[in-house]
Amino acid sequence: GGKLFLQSHGYWEVVQRTLNGSQFYTYSVCNVGEREQDNWLRTTFIQRRPAASRVFVELQFIVRDCNSFGDSSVTCKETFNLFTSESDADVGTTFRKGQFKKVATIAPDEITSKNELHINTETRVVENLSRKGFYLAFQDIGACVALLSARVYYKTCPATVKSLASFPETVAGGENQALREVSGVCMDNAISEELPRIYCTVDGEWVVPVGQCQCKSGYEEVKDACQECQAGFFKAAASGDKCEPCPANTQKLNSGALVCPCMDGFYRAPTDPPTGPCSGLPSAPRDLVATTTQLSTGKLLLSWQPPEDTGGRSDITYSIECQRCEGVVCQSCGEKIRYEPASTGLTDTKVSVSELDAHLNYTFTVEAHSGVSLFASQITSMRLVERTSTSLSLSWDVFPRPRVQSRPIRYELTYRKKVRRIYEADITVLAMLQERAHATSKFISCAAVGGAAMLFIVVMVLFLRRRKRNSHTRQGPEDTYFSSSEQLKPLKTYVDPHTYEDPNTAVLKFATEIHPSHITKQKVIGAGEFGEVYRGILKVPGRKEVAVAIKTLKPGYSEKQRQDFLSEASIMGQFSHQNIIRLEGVVTKFKHAMIVTEYMENGALDRYLRDHDGEFASFQLVGMLRGIAAGMKYLSDMSYVHRDLAARNILVNNTLECKVSDFGLSRVLEDDPEGTYTTSGGKIPIRWTAPEAIAYRKFTSASDVWSFGIVMWEVMAFGERPYWDMSNHEVMKAINEAFRLPAPMDCPSAVYQLMLQCWLQDRSKRPRFGDIVNLLDKLLRSPDSLKTIADFDPRVSIRLPSTSGSDGSPFRSVSEWLESIKMSQYSENFTCAGVVTMDQVLQMKNEDIKNIGVRLPGHLKRIAYSILGLKDQTSTLSVFAV
Ligand code: AMP
Repeated sequence: GGKLFLQSHGYWEVVQRTLNGSQFYTYSVCNVGEREQDNWLRTTFIQRRPAASRVFVELQFIVRDCNSFGDSSVTCKETFNLFTSESDADVGTTFRKGQFKKVATIAPDEITSKNELHINTETRVVENLSRKGFYLAFQDIGACVALLSARVYYKTCPATVKSLASFPETVAGGENQALREVSGVCMDNAISEELPRIYCTVDGEWVVPVGQCQCKSGYEEVKDACQECQAGFFKAAASGDKCEPCPANTQKLNSGALVCPCMDGFYRAPTDPPTGPCSGLPSAPRDLVATTTQLSTGKLLLSWQPPEDTGGRSDITYSIECQRCEGVVCQSCGEKIRYEPASTGLTDTKVSVSELDAHLNYTFTVEAHSGVSLFASQITSMRLVERTSTSLSLSWDVFPRPRVQSRPIRYELTYRKKVRRIYEADITVLAMLQERAHATSKFISCAAVGGAAMLFIVVMVLFLRRRKRNSHTRQGPEDTYFSSSEQLKPLKTYVDPHTYEDPNTAVLKFATEIHPSHITKQKVIGAGEFGEVYRGILKVPGRKEVAVAIKTLKPGYSEKQRQDFLSEASIMGQFSHQNIIRLEGVVTKFKHAMIVTEYMENGALDRYLRDHDGEFASFQLVGMLRGIAAGMKYLSDMSYVHRDLAARNILVNNTLECKVSDFGLSRVLEDDPEGTYTTSGGKIPIRWTAPEAIAYRKFTSASDVWSFGIVMWEVMAFGERPYWDMSNHEVMKAINEAFRLPAPMDCPSAVYQLMLQCWLQDRSKRPRFGDIVNLLDKLLRSPDSLKTIADFDPRVSIRLPSTSGSDGSPFRSVSEWLESIKMSQYSENFTCAGVVTMDQVLQMKNEDIKNIGVRLPGHLKRIAYSILGLKDQTSTLSVFAV
């Protein structure tokens, strides 16, 4: 913002005008009758905030129609030019034209005629500013212009709080730094494992927060801040969860509790979770009776009833104690008598006692215990009162009395000799056990991963061997230096059209110019960012007529847009491969620029597969993938990185051949609706892009391989959207946490294994396109290799809201259910067969589904799997494991 004071060099002058009833000062010039006008108007020095390398200039102006000047219209112009010059200091009134660089030609959208006045507003961007400030200048070359205002501004991402991390206000970057990475700070009482980060786009938008903060234990999230748990609630660990009410029999502490300790007289067993409820001690067993079967044999059966109050636990056990009394002298029975099955740890409410002495009096006591008994009675506060060389005197506090305790409390003291040698031996045993446990788990995990990788390795080895054999037969001894045929032919490398100073030269070099009269447009078949795409005919004299697709550039384009548009042709023109869309030529020498390519009858692959869901067998799908992989191998061999490989950018012809399309520079991602960042550097289609490419824009053939893995999944799933309705952020988080897409339904195991290889975090470990082509070829040659189907979980893989509709409620009708699994076309079949309620659907067997007219195997399976999922009411899986 701010006011600009302008200086004139030439005929610009301040003119007061009345516009729409208000008074305005304008800078005006109107020398339309004279030749070779060169009138300059310069602003004062505009200081720049250091981070603002990209500023916007918004101009309001009026341009008079040249036709209104009669004879003068010959020399009259209707545009003027915007210039800029950077400087580290204010140079005062010194003005040197040579120091200014042209930013843009400014043309009005609407011309002002005698009768009608039009105020135009145009905004231009000045990029890559680096010095302390700059000047703007307006050059008039013979127009009749009035400048009303010039507003200079830059964009910022405002200070914000996202996922409990606060991020400072950040100046948006420019072309050279399209995404500014900004580190955040967790809010008070929140913590995070990794530094929270976010990106500020050129447009001043925050996107893709990474690494979120979570409220620490004792705190929960309330409106972008962490608040202590309320009294009576607790939270044990840092997480996104809410505080939970204290469980049964625990003390309701003040706010901010990490755990709720047990109420007096209640306990947790060591195996109980510290966040779970506490339980009391069981009350005494009831109705103890002794039955003498045959006293002469000294045998007695004791039985009793379980305690009235189990303290809320089910792990009740009993123990028996026996005292032998002679007169008033009682003593423990010791080991003289036998208990069957045992005297402690009884789960049954009876025990038989034998080898009793018929002349003595016995007193039996039965005690009930539970998991908390031992813990409850453990004395924790023991003090040494006195000690001599042969004695110790100890004291302890009397424990608060448990709830039900009818007997006097007895204490038991155990002691152990501490012998160093034994102690050490103990430790060794422990360590050995740990080592073993470790080794076992390691072995198991290796076996699981190894099993997956095994198939892959075996196949590769076979292939490499065969290839070696072949090359040996073909090559003579003199070329044994060359291990592969590729090294014999010089590698062609892709040339970035940007390396040409004039992009038009690049187009001419790589593309054939076509005369527009040889092109016939027939029908609009699509829309690109630059204009319509037509189907048409190309008839070059002396050559056969061919069906073509014609991409057009819509009117009103800028020079930059024209160059971007044609850059696609400059790139495509360098390629020549069966699986890359072929460029027929371009029209550049006429007003309406066009790009003409071969025509692909079946259009984009994602749409095509969705329209033919379930109609192809695995080997046909793998055949398509093989073609795409071959095209990508060709591109990667030429060192071309696609960056937007996705089924929507693959085209299919009438023989089901798949070809890679959508080339170009900035435009590739600009016009992709999946693109996420609105930056001048291009957007990123998150769910197709490798993590390193998202994280630090490391786009390589290895990141293309990742995208190819996603395309494999799209193809095997008949055009299903990768990661379904998960948000981009959820996708990034899942990938970060090593989750990967599950196998699509009916996907051959070998194909799914290959996908997983494409999605390895470490990009150097991913297969290369050459490897992929070879493996797919191999699979296609031996159809049996496609017979083993990867494990498939209907609940996660089709994201059938299998137990319920999208809002979580059960399906209300058969048609609602069919719609959710995209099988609406069978609605009528169900109705006609009298299947009108979901209960009836649940009764259906595979045979029934076939009988009502679902014939395609893919559809049959989809419906059957969905019913399977519907039956499994317990499942609410939302993520999937590797
Ligand atoms: P694009 O701007 O390249 O993404 O093209 C837009 C749409 O036009 C595509 O999604 C296709 O449906 C269609 N299209 C583009 N090129 C061709 C072609 N060579 N043959 C058939 N359809 C095409």
